[in-house]
Amino acid sequence: VGREEAETREEEGIMKAGILSVGYELLAGKTINTNQAWLGSELGKIGIETAEVRVVPDEEGPIRIALMELWNAYPLVISTGGLGPTKDDITKRTIAECFGKRMAFSEEVWEQVKARFRHRNIEIPEINRCQAEYPEDFTLLRNDQGTAPGLLYESDGHSLYILPGVPYEMEGIFRNEILPRLRKNARPYLYRMIHTCGIAESAIAELFDDLVIPDGTNLAYLPQSGRVSLRVFGPAVEAGHELAAEVERRLAPYIWGYDDETIPTLVQQAFIRSGKTLSMAESCTGGTIQQMLTELPGSSAYFLGGIVTYANSVKTGMLGVPEAVLEAHGAVSNETVAMMAEECRKRFGTDVAGAISGIAGPDGGTEEKPVGTVYIAVADKLGVRTELLHLIGSRHNIRIIAAERVLLKILESLEV
Ligand code: ATP
Ligand code: MG
Repeated sequence: VGREEAETREEEGIMKAGILSVGYELLAGKTINTNQAWLGSELGKIGIETAEVRVVPDEEGPIRIALMELWNAYPLVISTGGLGPTKDDITKRTIAECFGKRMAFSEEVWEQVKARFRHRNIEIPEINRCQAEYPEDFTLLRNDQGTAPGLLYESDGHSLYILPGVPYEMEGIFRNEILPRLRKNARPYLYRMIHTCGIAESAIAELFDDLVIPDGTNLAYLPQSGRVSLRVFGPAVEAGHELAAEVERRLAPYIWGYDDETIPTLVQQAFIRSGKTLSMAESCTGGTIQQMLTELPGSSAYFLGGIVTYANSVKTGMLGVPEAVLEAHGAVSNETVAMMAEECRKRFGTDVAGAISGIAGPDGGTEEKPVGTVYIAVADKLGVRTELLHLIGSRHNIRIIAAERVLLKILESLEV
């Protein structure tokens, strides 16, 4: 973002936030800072721009410096981590000192902490008393998922939220206690995600060569592995809707979803809607597709099961792919993957079956079938349809992209 652009956005009245992430483990790379990514994304949806992120160890000096700088620079500051009962979690006391506050004690929180321990049938360590302490003049924010409540301090139009580090606790407090407060003061704002597959970022840019981006709207590209999502956002809601509609019109053949939709959630919805069932035969993805599907609660309503047939002997033994087919065409072939899908559908007794076989690399490629050569198939009552993919990237990327392509092909087959 150039300086000029930042200035015009300031004029548009975009609210800016600073995020403070506290924890040795984040700096040491032992924990990935998913809290920051999640908060940045959630704030963006309501038109708040994360302007700065600080990551500091559980130490008084660095917490104090980062906190005061963020507090002075931004009307909204959110801090996560370091609220727990162990002695390295010193955030709360440091914050109290920063604002010249004494520590108060909440009998109500103390009762809740004790009740949680009683519920788990363990004696409560005295050290946990500090979880009921909070700086005077701060507001306690309810934590349904854990013992340490969040905290809010407001002064001179600035707000500071202090949240625990445990991601699901942090997310719960954000949803229940922070979002409603932020929404109350929020200006109208449009945030629209458009998910595509099968068209490269450069090709999209070409399609959009003459696209007019009206004042108060923005268009951003978010390249994922193997596909691109677009984000239309800005305070000019009506113009933003028109821009989004134009983007959707130009990209129509490539769009598979919007906003929070993911490929697995759409597959699950489509199967539940149609009342059909699914099974899966995987080779190069080693169960990745089944993992993606079964991660979602409710997947048992349509996903009956699957098989990982990694070795040729297992493709023959468990799925009945004839040795002759494997010898003549290879494990990574149209013929093999088609048989895998059909046999899987038959043996698992499902309406639809998917299958995949490919070369994820880094070794195993040949001139004829280089790394990234992947065959996918979908079988249903109309027969079996196959597709050859030429994917690029690391082993990890190829497996993820290939898995998603199978699911998108299955989605397509449900639409017809
Ligand atoms: P606790 O009561 O569990 O001690 P806390 O508020 O002190 O809560 P931390 O001790 O800092 O939080 O972290 C608790 C857990 O949450 C740890 O497993 C930590 O790795 C994880 N965690 C902390 N900060 C983040 C972050 N920014 N992103 C993702 N996970 C985090
Ligand atoms: Mg910590």
